[in-house]
Amino acid sequence: MNPNWKIDTVAVQGGWEPKAGEPRILPIIQSTTFKYDSAEHVTKLFDLEAAGFFYTRLANPTTDGFERKIAQMEGGVGAMATSSGQAATTLAIMNICQAGQHIVTASTLYGGTYNLFAVTLPKMGIEVTFVDPELPAEEIKKAFRPNTRCLFAETIGNPGLNVLDFEKFAAIANEMQAPLIIDNTFGTPYLCRPFEHGAHIVIHSATKYIDGHATSVGGVIVDGGTFDWTCGRFPELTEPDISYHGLEYVKTFGPLAYIVKARVQLMRDLGTPPGPLNSFLFNLGLETLHLRMQRHSDNALAVAKFLETHPLVSWVCYPGLESHPTHDRAKRYLPKGCSGVLTFGIKGGAEAGRKFMESTKLVALVVHVGDARSCVLHPASTTHRQLSEEQQESSGVKPDLIRLSIGIEDAGDLIEDIDQALKASQQ
Ligand SMILES: *Cc1c(COP(=O)(O)O)cnc(C)c1O
Repeated sequence: MNPNWKIDTVAVQGGWEPKAGEPRILPIIQSTTFKYDSAEHVTKLFDLEAAGFFYTRLANPTTDGFERKIAQMEGGVGAMATSSGQAATTLAIMNICQAGQHIVTASTLYGGTYNLFAVTLPKMGIEVTFVDPELPAEEIKKAFRPNTRCLFAETIGNPGLNVLDFEKFAAIANEMQAPLIIDNTFGTPYLCRPFEHGAHIVIHSATKYIDGHATSVGGVIVDGGTFDWTCGRFPELTEPDISYHGLEYVKTFGPLAYIVKARVQLMRDLGTPPGPLNSFLFNLGLETLHLRMQRHSDNALAVAKFLETHPLVSWVCYPGLESHPTHDRAKRYLPKGCSGVLTFGIKGGAEAGRKFMESTKLVALVVHVGDARSCVLHPASTTHRQLSEEQQESSGVKPDLIRLSIGIEDAGDLIEDIDQALKASQQ
């Protein structure tokens, strides 16, 4: 791969580079296992002395093609795909955090991540402190403890759509010697490359824009390769791994230490790989990511501007609007556009919201975002339903909030559909 390729070229041609006579398209290798002629070769594979495939839980050629492409697009050193975005978040944290330790996270999170952090990680002995990402650095730093292992945040907070202050978060992470892990699901590497703004690890729900067509659930962890694991705080990466006959990750793999450990230790033991067919579809999705993200962003901005002037709308939240509190940050970190998700408040509250959702024709009521097709959701009664009212409030979910995930259809058609549904909502 030519390091000068622009992201649009990497999206189409990165990852899989076929040799003479090999398929032009990344093939679907739907096989759990791989054949070898000598025991010695297999031993070397197991000892990580030779590169190759032996079991699809650990690595698979189709998944490898997808991983290489997304790593190149993010500007990272390596990636590991997972069976879901939730698995990516879980493994990204467990790779450097165990019972008795602690993480700090922005409170404005995807509902599933919030539950993982608020309930399930604590059950496993990992304590989590939620911080308002808008607090000054000095306040956020107070949440750190000697056993804090990472700082976590989303590029665009879900569902408040607050664009992260990367500069502040990266400075805190560096000072506290804890890697900054960014969920870049809404940003995608086309709109935002968090490693360029100081992130150390990026995760995605590939289910959303990477797939882009709502066919497959999956996730991926990308390693920026820049965190200094030798700072004395991460013995799991610098000291021998007893589960891998004394392997020392940093010594053996250098900047790839974190992502190799995630694979050979956690994927080996916890086992959440994507299926090869899904990896094929994620790779196919990435081939048009640059085209789709531009259209998602342009359409969402057009819809947001339309809603802002609509008499039946009380407020609109989209980082591409000047009225958004993090609009300046959006200009800095998301210069090409602000992705496809926006929220608004409908006059008439929850009841009008329900009618609106039942009246749209193009925009479908589904629990999803990041799909080529536009969709609508009322988070308080769906994705954030399991949270208490206080938890909903702290993750930015208001009762009258309607979330739109704007697709890549014609913007005029979408606006017409939304307009008629708004009128129907008042009847
Ligand atoms: C959907 C989503 C996840 C979880 O991903 P799954 O693929 O559904 O497991 C995590 N973070 C964000 C921002 C999401 O939108």
